[in-house]
Amino acid sequence: MHFLAIIACSFLALSAASEWGYPDLDKNQDEPFPKWGGLCDTGRKQSPINLHVKGALKGEFSPLKFENYDEHQGALQMVNNGHSIQLSGFAHELTLSGGGLGSDFVVEQIHMHWWSEHTINDIRFPLEVHIVHRNKIYPNMSMAANFKDGITVIGVLYHVSNTPNEAIGSIIKSLDKVKKYDQMNVPTLVADSLAVDDLVPSVDTYFTYAGSLTTPTCAEAVTWIVLTDTHPVTLDQVNQFKEIEYKEDKQLHNNYRELQSENNRAVVLVQQLQERNSAGRMSGLSLGLMLLLGVAVQQSQL
Ligand SMILES: [Zn+2]
Repeated sequence: MHFLAIIACSFLALSAASEWGYPDLDKNQDEPFPKWGGLCDTGRKQSPINLHVKGALKGEFSPLKFENYDEHQGALQMVNNGHSIQLSGFAHELTLSGGGLGSDFVVEQIHMHWWSEHTINDIRFPLEVHIVHRNKIYPNMSMAANFKDGITVIGVLYHVSNTPNEAIGSIIKSLDKVKKYDQMNVPTLVADSLAVDDLVPSVDTYFTYAGSLTTPTCAEAVTWIVLTDTHPVTLDQVNQFKEIEYKEDKQLHNNYRELQSENNRAVVLVQQLQERNSAGRMSGLSLGLMLLLGVAVQQSQL
């Protein structure tokens, strides 16, 4: 009897784990966010959080280094995994190093959230792209998820524009092949060639903090790098993602996790040290920061 009970329990745990999801905010804006269990409920270093300029520590690091991000990827795979649209299958190792990172990280996959998970100065953006990297000293993602230096995610926020985003557009072109429920978890080839660079704006200024995966298991293994520079996207483009199905005739209208407590963590606003004196770039950087601070001042006056 005990044995059977254990089997039943494991089965229940398994099915619960595969059925985690998001509230459908289009149907009911007040639907409470579901409990995902485990670290997701008990962790103290969870993501996402609100990033605010005024509460951040000032940091200066050497530049982040990107290798092969400019390479055009001709054979990217796309999958609707029921929680997001995910890209993988990079031709060569895309390696991230430098900044405050202690070692080399390679890109594992890219996926998106609509609306954004992180907010900046309490402002939510229509889209957030996550470029998920694994620390090369660990052989795979499940191993890396056990260590606090296991994973680095670059978060890129997109702002509303009336000009379609070309890179996002080339992903959307292949969406029709994965939108339906019966196409879920079936990988398809991204028709357009895409360089990961095309998804990344300036990396001169960013927030960094120690956090977690924003989906179960919510492992606290992530060094977050959320860029303050944003890319444009139209609401029509974002709405295309909202049409993907996670159940028969059920569309994934939103897939962002609710904000988590900061719990006195250090959130650092990094101004990347410039390798060479370049007046033009520096003035651009200061302008970006002033704009960001301007938002903070405006908000405090409300
Ligand atoms: Zn994500």
